Amino acid sequence: MVTQAKNSIGVLTSGGDAPGMNAAVRAVVRTALARGVEVFAIREGYQGMVDGGDQIVPMVWDSVGSILQQGGTVIGTARCAAFRTREGRRQAARNLLKRKIDGLVVIGGDGSLTGADTFRREWPELLAELVERGEITPKVAERHPSLAVVGLVGSIDNDMFGTDMTIGTDTALHRITEALDALGSTAASHQRTFVVEVMGRRCGYLALMGAIAGGADWVLIPESPPDVDNWEETMCRELKAGRDVGRRRDSIVLIAEGAQDRHGQPITSDYVKKVLEERLGEDARVTILGHVQRGGSPSAFDRNLSTMMGYAAVETLLQAQPDSPPQLIGIRGNRIVHSPLMDAVRQTHAVNEAITSNDYETAMALRGGSFKDAFRTLRTMVRAVPHPPKRGQKQLRLAVMHSGGPAPGMNPAVRVAVRLGIDHGHKMLGVQNGFKGLVAGDIQELDWMSVNGWATRGGAELGTNRFTPDGSDYYAIARNLETHQIDGLLIIGGWTGYQSAHELFSRRPNFPAFKLPIVCLPASIDNDLPGSELSIGADTALNNIVQAVDKIKQSAVASQRCFVVEVMGRYCGYLALMSGMATGAERVYLNEEGISLADLQTDLARLVAGFERGRRLALLIRNEYANPLYTTNFLCSLFEEESKELFDVRQAILGHLQQGGDPSPFDRIQATRLATKCIDYLIEQAQETTPAASFIGLQAGQVKFFSLEDLPRMLDTVHRRPKEQWWMELRPIVRLLSQPRPRVG
Ligand code: ADP
Repeated sequence: MVTQAKNSIGVLTSGGDAPGMNAAVRAVVRTALARGVEVFAIREGYQGMVDGGDQIVPMVWDSVGSILQQGGTVIGTARCAAFRTREGRRQAARNLLKRKIDGLVVIGGDGSLTGADTFRREWPELLAELVERGEITPKVAERHPSLAVVGLVGSIDNDMFGTDMTIGTDTALHRITEALDALGSTAASHQRTFVVEVMGRRCGYLALMGAIAGGADWVLIPESPPDVDNWEETMCRELKAGRDVGRRRDSIVLIAEGAQDRHGQPITSDYVKKVLEERLGEDARVTILGHVQRGGSPSAFDRNLSTMMGYAAVETLLQAQPDSPPQLIGIRGNRIVHSPLMDAVRQTHAVNEAITSNDYETAMALRGGSFKDAFRTLRTMVRAVPHPPKRGQKQLRLAVMHSGGPAPGMNPAVRVAVRLGIDHGHKMLGVQNGFKGLVAGDIQELDWMSVNGWATRGGAELGTNRFTPDGSDYYAIARNLETHQIDGLLIIGGWTGYQSAHELFSRRPNFPAFKLPIVCLPASIDNDLPGSELSIGADTALNNIVQAVDKIKQSAVASQRCFVVEVMGRYCGYLALMSGMATGAERVYLNEEGISLADLQTDLARLVAGFERGRRLALLIRNEYANPLYTTNFLCSLFEEESKELFDVRQAILGHLQQGGDPSPFDRIQATRLATKCIDYLIEQAQETTPAASFIGLQAGQVKFFSLEDLPRMLDTVHRRPKEQWWMELRPIVRLLSQPRPRVG
């Protein structure tokens, strides 16, 4: 038997598989090894624990190499009836003890986590029984008085409390939006209606967010059934009205598999199809997305979420006291959080019970504020025509424009702003081509249908550029604001938008026309805007980078090769660091840290050592402004020359592919959320005598507004990035997971 000071830990994936589980396993294994703890993968979930033998596999650093980009779970998952019995769990305990395992990271759904909790509670009794039966010695039992358990939620449904997002949900949303985008074009060609069923037996998250991201025309979720008994008529009336007003050629009804009516009767996709055919005389087709939603390579978000959670799980496990209740690792507003596992399970069951007993108010209340807000926004967005203005209400004229580089998600943000503004009874105007258009007076009214189809479209229909006004431009802007009687201005854009908005605000004493409410909405792939932890477009760019790097890595099949990949971000290293985490880069170069000659020598020595050990591939990611002299080209030449033909070096400058493509689901959802808040804010501020000029941001998951007055204080103006960048604290995780540690044991 192996003797060692520390006990070992085990990691398993259980229940339904979810993309991102591999990244979690990788992080658990490597963090444990880096901390000098022996770690085992338990194959096929609890079944492997009950079976023991070679189902419990010791892991080394390279056991989890090249798995980040793989969907599913490489260590297998299963449902195991035996583990539901005491005998099964006793056998599982004995198998764990054979490897000195008394710490577990369980990655699964609420069932798997409940099972883990039972196992942990019974542990002392199970050990006593094993001693009694002579299967272990009392000494072994004494050495492992308790079992420490940490849970991570792997579930595409996002149906668990204690975390904003579960592992796999974001990827599932990618699959759903891809399917909706594809169906949208064929549906439009034939003027067809599609009924699309997505997963979610007790949770409408995928359906609701899928509908927002995919621009669906109707949604049915378990938590909030249609509030009238003749909902079929309402649905058909709205869909028909949408067609009648003109440009909408297709309709998509999105339905969660657990959708039901107010009396708890299931609403099936076939039933919806029948209703549409009978009442509208339309050709309706049903598409059940099924297991496609679970499949495919995990999104950048899921890889990083799982990596952060896996890392935190081991840290938590190593600090666990004998009486520590099992912990659930979750995420709240980009930060890893811990909560008692069984509290989260209980809350999750409370929603299920509320739905089963038709108590929908409680179900929606438990889902939380942003879920409710999203549902409310969606209900407005799907209207065929807006509510008419209220009698006697002041009709505001609100303008929307862009500024800065293109950011995927700009179009969805405009669509939401325009429709919500009109639905509140106001006139919405679009300024073409950013501040150039505002100077030139290129301003048109946008009606309800003018933004049809923008929910899914990349680029920026209104046009955007980095032009900033100067000198006499301000007179022209003031004149145009007055001529068009603009009562509020929404600027969806990046750095130049913020800068120019600040200029307008500062010039208020000289230009009374600038005393209108202004709000900037962060949209920049670089994620370099103050006040917001994430700007719209950054998630799409990150996914574009990750997909490109996956392909680049696959191209190196034969030789020993080092890739240096240059990514955008200007002076902000967000894209470089997060893509490095999601692709398993050995090294990430950031402007925030700079590059020194000593760094390069260390990196070279590591590369040489790695390739000498037999590694076939190395990946270095460099932010475009990491260092003005040590360019990507320079790095490649240096490593190539010094490699002494041990390995070759190739560069890949990803360029504009990072800014393009259709927005990711996250960017579409975030654009919707922020634009909703901005429109409410402009309307509210328009009532004030001195209206605010602000920028909106997301901080720790909360929406906040900051005065433009505070902009200079929050900026590192030399480097055009926020003074505080939350993601900098993730650097140690990237570093830890990228460099091999010595084998333990
Ligand atoms: P999920 O974890 O995705 O919710 P299941 O509910 O099917 O999936 O649970 C997966 C496995 O976890 C089960 O097959 C079983 O081995 C174990 N498990 C689930 N619930 C319990 C329980 N109450 N007690 C013991 N084991 C359980």
